[in-house]
Amino acid sequence: MKTSAEVVIIGGGINGCTIAYNLSKENSDAVLLEKGSLANGATGRCGGMIWSNQSGVELSKVAISSGERFAELKQDLDADLEYELADALTLALPGEEEDFRKAVDLQKSLGVSIEWLEPDEIRRIAPYIDVDNIPVAGGYRVFDHPANASVNPFYAVEALAANARRLGAEIYTYTEVTGIKVENGRIESVLTTQGEIKTHIVVNAAGGWSSDVAQMVGIKIPTMPYPHSAAALITEPLEPLPYFPESSEIWGRQTKSGQIIAGRADYIAPETAPPTEEPGYNTEASLDYIQHVSEIMQRYIPRLSNVNILRHWGGFFDVTPDALPILGEVDELEGLILACGCSAHGFCFSQAMGKFVTDLIVKREKSSIMGSFNLGRFKREYREYPGRWFGGH
Ligand SMILES: Cc1cc2nc3c(=O)[nH]c(=O)nc-3n(C[C@H](O)[C@H](O)[C@H](O)COP(=O)(O)OP(=O)(O)OC[C@H]3O[C@@H](n4cnc5c(N)ncnc54)[C@H](O)[C@@H]3O)c2cc1C
Repeated sequence: MKTSAEVVIIGGGINGCTIAYNLSKENSDAVLLEKGSLANGATGRCGGMIWSNQSGVELSKVAISSGERFAELKQDLDADLEYELADALTLALPGEEEDFRKAVDLQKSLGVSIEWLEPDEIRRIAPYIDVDNIPVAGGYRVFDHPANASVNPFYAVEALAANARRLGAEIYTYTEVTGIKVENGRIESVLTTQGEIKTHIVVNAAGGWSSDVAQMVGIKIPTMPYPHSAAALITEPLEPLPYFPESSEIWGRQTKSGQIIAGRADYIAPETAPPTEEPGYNTEASLDYIQHVSEIMQRYIPRLSNVNILRHWGGFFDVTPDALPILGEVDELEGLILACGCSAHGFCFSQAMGKFVTDLIVKREKSSIMGSFNLGRFKREYREYPGRWFGGH
């Protein structure tokens, strides 16, 4: 194993691999350390969906610039990532119409091709959706926009890592970071299960474990692994549906091979969660979860009643109190850079986060967006996110 590097990245999920690739493109001497296999964390359990409608203008802009970069990755990496533009339909349930209409206006102002649909128009374009029984107050359709798409997360991680290696980065899997040595207020090295690597710059892209990693240098970051609803199931392959209807109850999409990958979208914040829901790394499957999601799928699309579910898996989100990522340097320690706290939408933001972190390290450029997502916001004013971490999906 290498004994020194300009930058050490902790975490081999979509964020760590994107940062490793971007840094190696800039000839930076980067090492990535992953305690398991690549995509061992949330990335390997995610739906691979990217969408532009996030909570607020800034996060929507991040998602849009990230989506545009995702669209270019196939060519950059010379790999098929199963990137597919989504023709996506999101249903507004009773009481949600006003917020949805505002979101449509915001997305339009950012150049996204999006249109509001009345229930009758939804019936016309997707007659198999039981609009009356759900019931539906309206909805929106997003089409032909690079930040509204899907990507195979395993293909993306593998291709980013392979290209990072090709350009000179070293990636060590099954290598856990156990400590970070600091001397005179500066990072000196990273300790791992395979040895020590001298470095002055560490990127914490450890997802649900990011607060443990920060704790290695005595810094508290308010991220926590939270398993509630962070799970998914996948069906047998079906005939293509023009649209899989998403809502605040369900997310999902149909894959290239016809399978539906879906999960419940009613994420609950730790403060409002049932007492049985503790933060932690529980990834166990649950029959209740399968029943809940299948009930919604059948209510939305009655013809799915006889479809077989092939697999179901659990995961956890890396959540912050305001449901926004934590990005950039920290005041307390020179050389520590955070790229974590992505809640339920880190795949969406990864390509933009990778660019921001790389520009910071290589060019010392701090984007204004990075200021908004800095750890320092938790010492100042910030708004706790009331109940859901999903943004306006
Ligand atoms: C069921 C589910 C569905 C989702 N669907 C979507 C979706 O459709 N779209 C979307 O945008 N987001 C989605 N998400 C969220 C998304 O998966 C995450 O936000 C994103 O993958 C986070 O990526 P990451 O690289 O930051 O973290 P991770 O993928 O969790 O990677 C962190 C890595 O760090 C490693 N690590 C931790 N500690 C150490 C250590 N000490 N030493 C070495 N390595 C270490 C871990 O092993 C892990 O591989 C979903 C999440 C779940 C659970």
